[in-house]
Amino acid sequence: MLTTIIYRSHIDDGVPVSTLESMVAAANVKNSHADVTGILLFNGTHFFQLLEGPEESVFAIYRRICEDTRHYNLVELLCDYAPSRRFGSTGMELFDLREHDRDKVLQEVLNKSTSKYQLAYDDRALRFFRTFVEATERQNYFEIPPGDSWDFVPDEDVLSSESIPPIAEVACSFAFQPVIDPLAREVVSLEALLRTPDGNSPETYFNALSGDDIYAADLSSKKVAFAMAAALNLRKQMLSVNLLPMTLVNVPGAVNFLLQEIKQNGLVPEQILVEFTESEVISRLEEFTGAVRQLKAAGISVAIDDFGAGFAGLLLLAQFQPDRVKINRDLIRDVHKSGPRQAIIQAIIQCCTSLEISVTAVGVEKPEEWMWLESAGITTFQGYLFAAPMHNGIPSVAWPEKK
Ligand code: C2E
Ligand code: MN
Ligand code: MN
Repeated sequence: MLTTIIYRSHIDDGVPVSTLESMVAAANVKNSHADVTGILLFNGTHFFQLLEGPEESVFAIYRRICEDTRHYNLVELLCDYAPSRRFGSTGMELFDLREHDRDKVLQEVLNKSTSKYQLAYDDRALRFFRTFVEATERQNYFEIPPGDSWDFVPDEDVLSSESIPPIAEVACSFAFQPVIDPLAREVVSLEALLRTPDGNSPETYFNALSGDDIYAADLSSKKVAFAMAAALNLRKQMLSVNLLPMTLVNVPGAVNFLLQEIKQNGLVPEQILVEFTESEVISRLEEFTGAVRQLKAAGISVAIDDFGAGFAGLLLLAQFQPDRVKINRDLIRDVHKSGPRQAIIQAIIQCCTSLEISVTAVGVEKPEEWMWLESAGITTFQGYLFAAPMHNGIPSVAWPEKK
């Protein structure tokens, strides 16, 4: 199938521009064997390349391009399928935008096309060309340094690696994971993640239950979460707990139960954040938002978890505005390399900024993901890069330090 990839990248400072022509010529030999054609634009700093050809060949060449050290900060802008090539005749032609008149340059690029008929239509690939040539997107080119320009140094401080013996006679336990502001070197909150007594996942815990038992167990597990938080001496920390949205609707008196357990353990509602995933369809939205109102009226903060993953996210945001949204790993993964992920996350940030909702990125594993997200304006993070959840305890945080 005819596949198109468009990416942009930043030329490595050590590469003399004069060698570009010969680089392209060498690449062309490989490309023509693989039946891959396209065009490479260069503006003095950035490359913008369109590759077209059979799917396997395009992907193989793109993988090689990604490993090429003569450029960095590659961002894949488009990966799509088309009935015919847009730039089919010229192999891989290098087009230096600086050698052309600003007003005519887009037309001159398009003149290289072998498929004027198609470009006459409203083609996404063409619109990417226009945006690059006219440089209207430059504010979104976050130039992040290499991942190894930071060390992640484990914290030896106070709360670190404290562990408590399991609380007796309960059917569940919790792991704790810090949510941090890395540049401020601040633990923003701790999230209590449900575990079976021997440390297995929430999924394992819930799979052993059925029907309404799930909701009852979800709610009563919070008694253990608050008791553990008290035992871990978290009296002055923000503490996050997760709840299925329907737990609040299906279990009578759920909010009062939470308030009572918070008080019982010497905590205050103002330090508690309740996170709702939209993974489950909220079938009774009116009653759910009613319960959220009760939480807020008692001083408890509310977050939407896994934001953007389920179908209810944007609708939920129209119905009520949480204090925080958490973007999970499905969107965070390799965000520094993906134009679509960057666009979605920037839209979430913009929307939340307009509504004064805080944004946390969850599941951050790579320094490059973190750096891109910081550049985009996110300041609070949760992920293995900084600290993995610790069963029955609080892990130490690996704080980034510039080398
Ligand atoms: P969540 O609330 O989005 O929690 C974050 C999950 O991502 C946790 O998985 C955590 O271990 C994992 N995680 C954190 N950092 C990273 C990372 O850098 N890379 C990767 N790959 N994963 C990371 P966990 O503990 O298995 O929990 C899964 C989900 O189970 C939670 O996702 C939450 O939706 C749900 N859950 C947890 N505790 C409870 C609870 O008490 N009640 C309910 N209803 N659901 C819960
Ligand atoms: Mn959560
Ligand atoms: Mn999640």
